[in-house]
This record gives sequence, C-alpha cells and structure tokens, in this order.
Amino acid sequence: MKVLFVSAEVVPFSKTGGLADVAYALPKALRDKGIDVRIMSAKNFHSKNIDYYEDHIVSKDVEVGWRKQYLGITYVEYDKMPFYFIDNEYYFKRDNLYGYEDDGERYSYFCRAILEAISVIDFKPDIIHINDWHTAMVPLLMKKHYSHIDKFKNIKIVYTIHNLKYQGVFNSEVLHELLNLDDEEFNSGSIEFFGNVNFMKSAINFADAVTTVSKSYAEEIKNSYYGENLQDVIRENDYKLFGITNGIDYKIYDPNIDKNIRKNYSYKNSSYKSENKQYLQELVALPKHKTIPLIAMITRLTDQKGLDLLECIMEELLTLDIQMIILGTGDSKYENILKEFAYRFPDKLAVKIEFNESFSHQIYAGADMFLMPSKFEPCGLSQMISQRYGTVPIVRETGGLKDTVAPYNKFTKEGTGFSFESYNAHEMLFSIKRAIEIYSNKKEWRDLVKIIMQIDSSWKKSASIYASVYEDLVK
Ligand code: ADP
Repeated sequence: MKVLFVSAEVVPFSKTGGLADVAYALPKALRDKGIDVRIMSAKNFHSKNIDYYEDHIVSKDVEVGWRKQYLGITYVEYDKMPFYFIDNEYYFKRDNLYGYEDDGERYSYFCRAILEAISVIDFKPDIIHINDWHTAMVPLLMKKHYSHIDKFKNIKIVYTIHNLKYQGVFNSEVLHELLNLDDEEFNSGSIEFFGNVNFMKSAINFADAVTTVSKSYAEEIKNSYYGENLQDVIRENDYKLFGITNGIDYKIYDPNIDKNIRKNYSYKNSSYKSENKQYLQELVALPKHKTIPLIAMITRLTDQKGLDLLECIMEELLTLDIQMIILGTGDSKYENILKEFAYRFPDKLAVKIEFNESFSHQIYAGADMFLMPSKFEPCGLSQMISQRYGTVPIVRETGGLKDTVAPYNKFTKEGTGFSFESYNAHEMLFSIKRAIEIYSNKKEWRDLVKIIMQIDSSWKKSASIYASVYEDLVK
C-alpha cells in the first residue's frame, strides 16, 4: 500500500495548530504498520534548526488560470520519513501560512501543484490523503484534468476534515481564473456555495472517503449548530463519512524524555511535576507556591476556544486562590483582554502572546489543570497532551473533548478530567471549582494524575482504523 499524505502544515517544519501534529504523527504510525506513506507539503518554512537531508528533484510549470507558475519539488528525509515539498517562494515564502488576500490563489496553486508533483515524482500512490480546505481542490482537479493519465488511474482519495469552520470560500471567479474549471462545476452538487466556490464542499463531494477527527464531531456536523452550513452536504455523504479520533505523538509528548522540560518524570514519580511547576512560576514571574492550583491554557485565541466564557468570569476566577498561565496568539481582541487582566492581576495571571513550542511543553509539565472550554472542538490535542503530562483537563463536553475526557466522579473515583455541558460561563466556573476542591485533597489528586498519565492516546489504534479505510477503498 502506498499513501501520499498531503497537508499545508507539518511538524517539525511548520505549525499553526493540531493539523501539523497530525500530519506528521499519523503517517509515522502508518509507516510503523508497514504502509509506505510519504508526506507532501508546502515549503513555507525558512531556515530551521532541524537536521534533515534535502534534495531538489525537479522544476516545472503549473497552470494557474492563463498563467504558468513555477513549481520546484524538494525531497527531504527527516527521521526516516520521506517528504516532498512544493516550492514556490512567491506563494509560500511569507511570515504566516494563512490569512493573506490571495489565499484563494495560493492554495489553488497548491492543489494543482500537488497533482503536477505526483505526475513527476518516482512514487505512485494508491491513496492520496488530503487534509482541510488547503488541499481540498485535489479530488475535483484530479477528476477533471488528470483522470486520463495512466498514473492517476485507480488512485483513491481520502479527505480529512480537521475543522469544518475553515472551508476555503472564494469568489466564483476562482473557478476559471485560477482552477481552470468550467461553469459546469458551478452547481450546488459540486462546488457552488451561496454564489461562491467552496473548496471544502468540493472535497466532501468528490473524495472517495471523508473522515473527521472524532466520533462525536462526525455526528455533530450533521446538524446546523455545528454544520457551518455544510450539514446537508455532510448528511448526503454520510455513507462515506468516518469519525476517527486523533492520537498524539508519543515521542514528542513524553514527559519521561522531553528535552523541553525542567525535570523528566513518569506516572511512577509524578510528584516531580512540582519541580516543573516551580520552574514555570519562575519563568513567568508568578509567586512560587507549591500548593496553589495552577491552571493553564495553550491555544489559538479565537472564538472557537471559549475565550468569551473566560472573559465573563475572569474577574471572579482570579479572586480564587489560583494561578493561571495562558500561552496563545490570535485575535487582537482576545490578546488585549488577556493582557489587560494580566496587568491588573500580576500575581495571579501570566499571559504570553507568542507561539512557542518548547515553552508549551514546560507549561504542560508544570501546570496542575488545563482549561479548554471550546465552543466546538473537532478533536483537540491539547487535552490529550495535558493528560499525558499529568495535567488534569477541564473541558466543555463537545466533539473530541467529549470523547477523550470522562468526567471525574468523586464517589467512584472514576474519570479522566472535569467537564461541563452547556456553553455557559458559570457552568465552566463551577467545573473549575470542582477541580480545585478535589485538588485540595492531595492523595485523591495524585491518584487522578496517575490515572490520566496512563491513558493510551497514542496513534496505534486510530492508525489501524485509517489503514482499514485505505484497504477498503483499494479493494
Ligand atoms: P487547534 O488545532 O484547533 O489549534 P488542537 O488542540 O488540536 O487545537 O492543537 C493545538 C496544538 O497547537 C497543540 O499541540 C498545542 O500545544 C499547540 N499550540 C497552540 N497554541 C500554541 C502556542 N501559542 N504556542 C505553542 N503551541 C501552541
């Protein structure tokens, strides 16, 4: 079985969120099962302090409307994983991965370039596994422009939705001017979406299988509250939809060997967390208290992540005997609100507005609790990473959070975190208070920490499910 796994971001080269983690960890887990998986991505990173082998394979042109744009293909080997990078400095040598006015053009080019690259590399995939809106035009473009070419015959496409919110919706001119598709495609059974084109919709319609990243989210997106106006399309394609929960990379997120943290530990000596906590307090200039509960958030600062709930009860929360650390970047609205609270409560709240991978590991290791009150959450990795580091998650019961965090029951001592159901600030506050109450009982808390550190959130199980999806398609 040969699989080309395609993503706009992939660790360790580029990352804005969970997609990059998955794009590396899942292919690695599939390779461990003997599947020949290679990763294709965009060369959107500059000089990196990473040890890898690199070889420029070939240059050619890609049709983008009436223009021809440069495509360089670079082969990279990192930690035995083969990568192909789509290289075009005009489109990808920028400070950020997304958020530009010409994103429609950049990712139209990307989709076309992926197919052009496949036509020349020395690798014929049985499966192309594409992810999110950035790669979502691949199925329709393949059908229209490549299906007559031998190498593309019998290739099946798996499409994974990591977040239905970001769909790649652009003006209908994109159809002719960038994608070289004709008006025939501009209908509601294909790519048309309220008078615009919608990349994600076309992939849902034309991929051979559609997956999303948890069982609960796969159900939720069939309804209008979570469906982002694609619920009808999702329901029509239900026959090929699978919810497969993400895992986390057990090599990258292992408190026992993690080089980014002050002191390594495992569930057997989880009391060592306290050294990480003190070090973390020192790093962010919070008073060094061993016994005060330290709550963390590491997150994109967007509406999705429940920050308006936090804003609502922040004042009340910070009057409790707690400390809080928030690491994140995103909407300036939230950045400013958080900075303001940190200014007013310097002994209670530390806010770091930055994207900092290694610091995030120290937070996972040093905090006692991890707050994730998402409005919606396709899967979420942070709550699983927290569990692995013995940091107890407090989450809203939605999507993958619901599937990976079982609410703690203080009578049976069962459960793997704390949770609340409604998108309601005081319900959230109540859950935090419940967690603090349990935290005050040292033994009970230590037992809970030990339990969550032993949960299996590795990719093993989920990789097998992906493998069987591939096998069924190839059969
Ligand atoms: P999403 O993909 O919606 O952003 P996930 O929970 O699936 O949410 O994945 C988020 C990933 O990004 C986690 O690995 C988390 O640690 C990381 N992350 C988020 N914000 C930051 C940040 N500011 N600095 C470092 N890592 C971050």
